[in-house]
Amino acid sequence: MSISFEIPERILQERDMLKSVADGMMRPTSRYFDEHEHERPRDYMNFMWPILRDQQARAQQKTASDAPKREGPGIAYLRLVMLAEQLSWGDVGMYLCLPSPLLAGSAIEAVGTKEQKLKFLQRFAEGDEPRWGAMAMTEPGAGSDTSSLQTMAVLDPATNEWVLTGEKIFCTNGKLALEDSDGLAVVWATIDRSAGRAGMKPFIVPAGTPGVKIGKVEKKHGIRVSDTAAIVLDHARIPFDNILGSPDVVKKDGGTAGFKGLMSTFDASRPLVAATAIGVGRAALEFLKETLAQEGITIPYGKAKHELTAIERDVIEMEAQLKAAWLLTLRAATMLDQGIQNSLEASMAKAKAGKVTTLLTQKVVEILGPMGYSREWLAEKWMRDAKISDLYEGTGQINLLIVARRILGYSSKELQ
Ligand SMILES: Cc1cc2nc3c(=O)[nH]c(=O)nc-3n(C[C@H](O)[C@H](O)[C@H](O)COP(=O)(O)OP(=O)(O)OC[C@H]3O[C@@H](n4cnc5c(N)ncnc54)[C@H](O)[C@@H]3O)c2cc1C
Repeated sequence: MSISFEIPERILQERDMLKSVADGMMRPTSRYFDEHEHERPRDYMNFMWPILRDQQARAQQKTASDAPKREGPGIAYLRLVMLAEQLSWGDVGMYLCLPSPLLAGSAIEAVGTKEQKLKFLQRFAEGDEPRWGAMAMTEPGAGSDTSSLQTMAVLDPATNEWVLTGEKIFCTNGKLALEDSDGLAVVWATIDRSAGRAGMKPFIVPAGTPGVKIGKVEKKHGIRVSDTAAIVLDHARIPFDNILGSPDVVKKDGGTAGFKGLMSTFDASRPLVAATAIGVGRAALEFLKETLAQEGITIPYGKAKHELTAIERDVIEMEAQLKAAWLLTLRAATMLDQGIQNSLEASMAKAKAGKVTTLLTQKVVEILGPMGYSREWLAEKWMRDAKISDLYEGTGQINLLIVARRILGYSSKELQ
């Protein structure tokens, strides 16, 4: 595989446009929404909706058209990670509130048929009111260990409907998708517990489905503007065709065929989460450098290490780590664009970016001293916001485990 480091002009232009959104709409309200958890950034949401809706409409047209694909590799994921990084530089919690399919979109794109993509993503391509998508996998007894999933989907042959029962927790945009808009959630459930991972399937649960209720909405340490909700499914009925992919339980490769859908979703979403982490890290690092410059400290690049002060060394080290995480992220996204299996690289990027940004933002607060810890500046908020990128979409430990398994050639049973 070859990676070009030339970023196409139209992505750069789009990134400039989003920089003005980040400067004008995100940064000025970042502190307010951090301190008023569960209030919605309506102006930003309403501003972004028509832009994202029209982009989705163009994507729908492309999916619908049977015209042959353009020559050469695409840049769709490269574009998405660049934009996620830029908006997360503005405010990562607000990035997560973008009225869009978000993780549901990754799942539908990864597992759905062409007809399902056209049908289920259409609601994000039309209408005046913003809509959100969510993906609900995590349960009280199933987080890292997704194979312990308990939510059941039972087919009712009399009505040809799936009947879903169970509880999902910590679902990003769960309330926005299912209660506050005409959105949808992709809910993972098992159709055959005895089949283990092969029985796990994703189902489209639209807003307004009887038997679906929003439970607790979390109060959080960081990304406080982002909605994180529990979803209770009590005999929720959805049409048969709302199962994404095949309803067959195929026990291929030691029984993981159903589970592969979840992994393909993560292959697409982990580079994005890595990009959001890098956006937060860049925000903190740039702020640190600007603050140091005001104190007359500029970083003397090119000097030998022993000639640098401790702070100069820290800044250069942080920049190098962040750049390494960014390059891993670009590689994982580019592989997706080129249709190359990227599970290893997606987990590498996510593990690296989550850890780098967590440590980097702590260091920035440390160097800034008491003002870094004060709520007057955003540095302490970035430190809180950073930690989530090391937790969701597979914790840092789980992603390192995946990296180790892939490199050493062990199965998930052999290396736990
Ligand atoms: C703000 C927020 C938003 C979220 N959004 C979503 C969402 O939209 N959809 C969704 O489905 N989920 C979501 N989650 C859930 C998230 O993905 C899980 O919390 C995460 O996967 C960890 O699972 P767990 O909470 O059960 O932790 P556990 O699996 O119980 O892990 C606890 C600790 O043990 C470690 N650990 C576990 N197993 C191993 C192992 N084999 N080896 C080494 N260490 C291990 C973990 O790394 C972690 O440090 C969200 C969580 C948060 C906090």
